[in-house]
Amino acid sequence: MADLPMPTVGPVSRLAPKPMRFVLNWGRRYSLWVFNFGLACCAIEFIATSMSRHDFIRFGVIPFANGPRQADLMIVSGTVTDKMAPAVKRLYEQMPDPKYVISFGACSNTGGPYWDSYCVTKGVDQIIPVDIYVPGCPPRPEALLHGIMKLQEKIAQEKLSDRYVWSRAHGEDA
Ligand code: SF4
Repeated sequence: MADLPMPTVGPVSRLAPKPMRFVLNWGRRYSLWVFNFGLACCAIEFIATSMSRHDFIRFGVIPFANGPRQADLMIVSGTVTDKMAPAVKRLYEQMPDPKYVISFGACSNTGGPYWDSYCVTKGVDQIIPVDIYVPGCPPRPEALLHGIMKLQEKIAQEKLSDRYVWSRAHGEDA
């Protein structure tokens, strides 16, 4: 089956004035549907962050994406093995643009305590682009909240075309 064309923002990416960009980025940064790729112990800290004590929904982070096709943000929490790496990459590719990745914890950042293992990927950024790295083994929920706020600051500065593959490929600028 032929590949479907990527969604685009077309000429809007050139014509959108700054106030429109501000509103679009404001909506995007406070409605982040999350796909949690939990691979090891750090995933428990992700769950803790989504519960009532830390409650990341108050930042506009929604932990109920049905899967990658409905998600804006992938949080990779845990040890990425070389065997699992193709699945991480494939699910990332299924997410629609614009999409973001937080690498949560030492394992996801660099391989962590297993950095010299024959079967561990030395950081998820070897297979997909990462926007924010959260250090720790495991990081506390507050660290994930900080990472989310950093990502939201980054989204607020974005141009419309920054995240669209088609727009980038065709040299459009916002
Ligand atoms: S960084 Fe530490 S807590 Fe997190 S998955 Fe690796 S070993 Fe477990």
